[in-house]
Amino acid sequence: MIKLLRYLKPYGVLLVAIFALAVGQSVANLYLPDLMANIVNKGISTFDTNYIWKTGGLMLLVTVGGVLCSIVGIYLSSQVATGMSKKVRSVIFNKVQYFSLHEFDTVSTASLITRTTNDTAQIQQVMVMMLNMLITAPITLIVGIILALKQDVGLSWILIAIMPVLITVIVVLLIKAVPLFTAMQVKLDKLNLILDENLIGVRVVRAFNRIKHEEKRFDIANRDVTDIAIKVNQLIATMMPVMMFMINISSISIIWFGSLRVSSGNLQIGAMFAFLQYAMQILFSLLMVAMMFIMIPRAEASATRINMVLEMEPEIKDKSKVKEAKEKRGYIELKDVTFSYAGAESPALSHISFTTSPGKVTAIIGGTGSGKSTLVNLIPRFYDVASGEVLVDGVNVQDMSQEHLRSKIGFVPQKAVLFAGSIDDNLRYGKESAMEAEIKHAADVAQASEFISKMPDGFNSPIAQGGTNVSGGQMQRLSIARALIRKPEIYIFDDTFSALDFKTDAKLRAALKGETRDATVVIVAQRVSTVIDADQIIVLEDGRAVGIGTHKKLMETCDVYKGIVSSQLSAAEIEEET
Ligand code: ADP
Ligand code: MG
Repeated sequence: MIKLLRYLKPYGVLLVAIFALAVGQSVANLYLPDLMANIVNKGISTFDTNYIWKTGGLMLLVTVGGVLCSIVGIYLSSQVATGMSKKVRSVIFNKVQYFSLHEFDTVSTASLITRTTNDTAQIQQVMVMMLNMLITAPITLIVGIILALKQDVGLSWILIAIMPVLITVIVVLLIKAVPLFTAMQVKLDKLNLILDENLIGVRVVRAFNRIKHEEKRFDIANRDVTDIAIKVNQLIATMMPVMMFMINISSISIIWFGSLRVSSGNLQIGAMFAFLQYAMQILFSLLMVAMMFIMIPRAEASATRINMVLEMEPEIKDKSKVKEAKEKRGYIELKDVTFSYAGAESPALSHISFTTSPGKVTAIIGGTGSGKSTLVNLIPRFYDVASGEVLVDGVNVQDMSQEHLRSKIGFVPQKAVLFAGSIDDNLRYGKESAMEAEIKHAADVAQASEFISKMPDGFNSPIAQGGTNVSGGQMQRLSIARALIRKPEIYIFDDTFSALDFKTDAKLRAALKGETRDATVVIVAQRVSTVIDADQIIVLEDGRAVGIGTHKKLMETCDVYKGIVSSQLSAAEIEEET
C-alpha cells in the first residue's frame, strides 16, 4: 500500500487542500458542543434572548462551514483517489505490455484482469475513506477527549470504561477479518478465470454438451466467493449493533450520572450536554478508525497483488546500451542455436544453423511439434536462446532494442489474432499512417479484397472481439495483409497458409512473390506445394535440422523430406482416385 502511495505525488496541492478542509471540518464539529453549552448555561438560564440569537447564529455559521468543508473535501478526495487508481491501472497495463511470454505463464491473464480492475477499485475505495478520515478521526479523538474533560472531569470514567471494550471488539474483528480478504481476491481470480475460459470456449462447451458441467464449475467458484463475502459481512453486521449498543449505553450513563451531578450542583446542564456530544463524537470517530482498520488490510491484500505485477522483471529486456543494425538489411543468421522451454525435459530446438538474405525464401517444414513455430519465434526474440546466437542484420538480437528489431519484421503468427474494431483499424495495426491505397493494395495481395468488398461496410465493417465474425481463412488473410502494410525487411509466415484452400493458397503465394521480392521471407509450412520453390528448405524433426537445401537436393539426400513428399503425394493421389 505504501509503495502505491507514490502515485499520489501529482496531487500534492490537492492533498494539502483536503487535509486543510479536514481540519476545518473537525474544528467546526468540535466547536459546536461548546457553543451549545454556552447557550444552555448563559442564554437560557438568564433568559438572554439576544445572547441566544447571537450564539445560535454563530452555531449556524459554524455548521454551514463544517458542512461545506466536508462536501468539498469529499469531492476532492474522490478526485484524488480515482486519479490514483487510473494511474495504477495504466501502470499495470504498461508493465504487462513489456512482459515476455514467460511472465504470462506465472500470472494468469484472468488474475491480471482482476488485479487491474477489482484490486485497484479496492484501493480506490480505501483511499477515499482514508483521505477523509486520516485527519478528522485522530483530531476528533484527541481534541474531543481534552474538550470533554474540560467540560467535566467527573464523567470521564464512563469514557475510560467504554473505550477499552470498544477497542477490544475492533481488534478481535480485525484478527478474524484479515485472512478473509486475502482469500477473497484469490477466489475472485478463480471466478474470473472460469468466466474467461467459458466465454472464449463457448463453442467447444456447446459442441461437447458441457453446459451443465461448466455451470457446476462456475457455481462452485461463485459460491466460494459468496461464502467469503457472507462471512465478511456477518462480521461487520455483528460489529455494528455491538458498537451501537455500547455507544448508546455510554450516552445513557452520561445522562444518568450527569443528571445526578447536575442535581447535586456539581455540573451545569449545558456542560453535561456538551460532554454528551463530545463523547458521541469520540466514540464515532473510534468507530470510523475501526472501519479504516478493516478496510486497510483489504486494500493491503490488493496492493500486494498489484505490487507483485509491478515488481516482476521481464525475462526479456533491452540492454542498457543497445546497438542498431544499420548497415545490412534483411539478413538472418542462426549460429548453432539450442533452446528449451522452461521445465521441458528435452530442448525444443538443438544446434540449428542457417543464414538467409534479402530476396531469398526460406521454408521450414516438419511434423507437428517439430519446433517450427519455436524456431521462428526466436527471430523477433519472443524467447531467448539457451546457447548459440540469433543475428539479424549482423547484430545479435539480444543487443538490439526490441522495438528496433521488431520494426524490421512483419510477423504473421500461426494463430491469427484480430482486435475488436473495423477491418481498417486492424490493418492499420501494421502501420498507423498507411494511405488508403496501401491498405487496398495489401488486401489485394493477401487475397482479402474479395470477401471484404462483400461485407456490408467494406473496410469499415466491424470485426468482433477475437475475430469471431470472420472465418479462420479470412482471419489469416487479414493477418497477412496487416504484415504486408508494414513493408518490413523480413517476413515471417508461421503456418499461415494451411487454413487456406489450395486455390487461394496458390494465388496468394503468386501475389506475394511480387510483393516480397526484395525482402527476406521465412515460411513455415505443412504442404510440400508451398515450399517447393523456396531457395532453401529446412527440414525439422524433433527440434533438429535433418536437412537443409533446395527441393531437388533434399529429394536426393534427405529421407525425412522424401517421406513428407511421398506421404502428401500419395494423399493427393488417393483423393484423385476417390
Ligand atoms: P510446431 O510449430 O513445429 O508444430 P512448436 O514449435 O510449436 O512445434 O513446438 C515444439 C515443441 O515445443 C513441442 O513439443 C511443444 O510441445 C513444445 N512447446 C511449444 N510451445 C511451448 C510452450 N509455450 N511451453 C512449453 N513447451 C512448448
Ligand atoms: Mg507451429
